[in-house]
Amino acid sequence: MAGQVNPFESLQEQVDDAAAFLDADPGLIERLKNPERLLETNLTFERDDGSLETVRAYRSQFNGDRGPYKGGIRYHPNVTRDEVKALSGWMAYKCAVVDVPYGGGKGGIAIDPADYSEDELERLTRAFATELRPLIGVDRDIPAPDVNTGQREMNWIKDTYETLENTTAPGVITGKAIDSGGSEGRVEATGRSTALAARETFDWLDDDVADATVAVQGYGNAGSVAAALLADLGATIVAVSDSSGGIHDPEGLDPRSVKAHKAETGSVTGYGDTDPLTNDELLTLDVDLLVPAALENAINGDLAPDVSADVIVEAANGPLTPRADDVLADRDVYVVPDIFANAGGVTVSYFEWVQNRQRFHWTESRVNEELERVITGAFDDIVEAYESHDLRNLRTAAYVVAIDRIVDAADQAGSWP
Ligand code: GLU
Repeated sequence: MAGQVNPFESLQEQVDDAAAFLDADPGLIERLKNPERLLETNLTFERDDGSLETVRAYRSQFNGDRGPYKGGIRYHPNVTRDEVKALSGWMAYKCAVVDVPYGGGKGGIAIDPADYSEDELERLTRAFATELRPLIGVDRDIPAPDVNTGQREMNWIKDTYETLENTTAPGVITGKAIDSGGSEGRVEATGRSTALAARETFDWLDDDVADATVAVQGYGNAGSVAAALLADLGATIVAVSDSSGGIHDPEGLDPRSVKAHKAETGSVTGYGDTDPLTNDELLTLDVDLLVPAALENAINGDLAPDVSADVIVEAANGPLTPRADDVLADRDVYVVPDIFANAGGVTVSYFEWVQNRQRFHWTESRVNEELERVITGAFDDIVEAYESHDLRNLRTAAYVVAIDRIVDAADQAGSWP
């Protein structure tokens, strides 16, 4: 079963694969495979019926060599200690590969938010923010949205922190609503970088994403925006899915209309005149571009031989296991890794933080132009590493770029006598 692959072991294997091409001290590499600090805590909050409930929550601060810890907070039943550790590591490498001045962090609460009312989620989120307060800060650790969290939760965390600290500090968290100090373009940023990554990759392969057929697994914030922006580039979105199943239309779907259907009914399934398909059928569909935009381990070593796409662009974090990577590299399928492809989210979080520090609001076109500059520049760096080291895939190339930058920062910091 795909779900049995431990994402933290996957992260460590990815780091080892790349470190083999770098002349870094093995002791330092060992440090870069483990979080610096991990909070594991219980949150007790009041249900609407007056009863108390206790749930498990985590915050992992993976690496701070390049700047404050940075990364989202997810609410999902699959949240575990090792998942959060892995996700925090992917954040450290993600920030380094796009060269934003952050380390990596990640947090999560092991719940299904659909089981709770809005009032209950607010009490729970404020309990978590209170627990996080000593660890976070504008220059220390800056959370953000992730799976099943968004502007609402970020606004609550900001308010709790500012109230307890008796200050205003919008830069303590990113992904806020615009009127609470959020940035234009932040909601779309993950999907936007995914679409830009696809465009750059097809160009590099002397192809045009406008001619591509596309399947998107996961129709949350990342998947739905990526689908819409890829369609804007001219691509044909032939299939999309969410946790309830998928839909297929070889003539092409209208991604924004599918999103409206999901907002109304809770799922993409049942949309228009489409054929139903399972998530595994979607992942093995014969398309030019596959975009996994859901959770970890969507494609494992058993499923990878059946994948028919020519290019995979990872909008989710960790959707391919290392065994899947091996199979796909052998089959010459180009995998554009998560730590680059979905880095638009944290890049625009960085722009939001810069705006918060400056107390100055950028226009959406400025945000999108700066994002495009960062993503195209990072792609060039990855391709340079891929070609100069003759690497087996773009993931290892992205890690080579990222580890090199973190190792440089750590070396330059020196050590205490
Ligand atoms: N949760 C997003 C990610 O996995 C964004 C993190 C951030 O903006 O700090 O990249």
